[in-house]
Amino acid sequence: MPRDLEGARAIVTGASSGIGAGIARAFGEAGASVIVNYHSDEAAAAQVVDDIRAAGGQGEAVKADVSQAEDCARLFAAAETHFGGVDILVSNAGIQKDAAFTELSLEDWRAVLDLNLTGQFLCAQEAVRRFRAQGHDADRGPAMGKIILMSSVHQAIPWAGHVNYASAKGGVKALMESLAQEVAGEKIRVNAIAPGAIKTDINREAWEDEAARKEMLKLIPYGRIGEPEDIARAAVWLASDASDYVVGTTLFVDGGMTLYPSFREGG
Ligand code: NAP
Repeated sequence: MPRDLEGARAIVTGASSGIGAGIARAFGEAGASVIVNYHSDEAAAAQVVDDIRAAGGQGEAVKADVSQAEDCARLFAAAETHFGGVDILVSNAGIQKDAAFTELSLEDWRAVLDLNLTGQFLCAQEAVRRFRAQGHDADRGPAMGKIILMSSVHQAIPWAGHVNYASAKGGVKALMESLAQEVAGEKIRVNAIAPGAIKTDINREAWEDEAARKEMLKLIPYGRIGEPEDIARAAVWLASDASDYVVGTTLFVDGGMTLYPSFREGG
């Protein structure tokens, strides 16, 4: 991994598992110091921190429920304490609570919106406040700060049986673009990544079972299910100064899932 994030200070939410863990490790390998946020799995977060340190980087595990404003603020306070500030936020934590529309409880609607949308709002808001308080140190790079929101192909692809999740990701798109427009003049770059199907705990039933895996592959023109590292490499680039002119964009990393694959045969 090229050291494209040498000296950068990052917070990655939901970094104890899946995509967030992959991003935290890749950031460490690329030279960043990383706050590894977890919610329940302390041991997994500690392992990610060990991996970052083994690669020669700095990492600290911090427990926080990012659907709560005080917890988000605690992540940034930890970055201040351990690294002297923050340059990059990857707002990644997310959950699914799936149900057919009329079976979906208000509780599960709210739980998904609270974490997958409000949690991203809260962390991004705190990031902008911190970037402003720190000011722009041109020696640290052309941007004052960078925010990457974790969206999904389901910001664009409707998803029956998952209206809470798809609504949250549609909201993430609008949040990201509106915020990017609002703060770009201050040299804060806000972008999003929209993964397709990535092999993690969130969708285990869709790739562990062979029949389900075959069905899933029909939706992916590139012919394989993604790995967290596929998203991590994109995140390193989007967080680095190599992407300096990229502002308000959603980078789809989906093996072509958004290319309407069923039109290969029809249309
Ligand atoms: P995952 O493996 O289930 O990881 C979810 C992470 O979120 C875990 O680290 C978990 O922490 C954390 N988390 C859960 N509740 C939290 C809370 N209240 N506060 C802070 N962290 C919390 O899922 P994943 O697939 O990596 O998903 C990561 C992101 O990618 C999500 O936003 C998801 O929507 C998005 N995404 C995933 C896919 C995919 O195919 N996998 C596709 C598109 C988008 P603990 O384990 O410590 O509780």
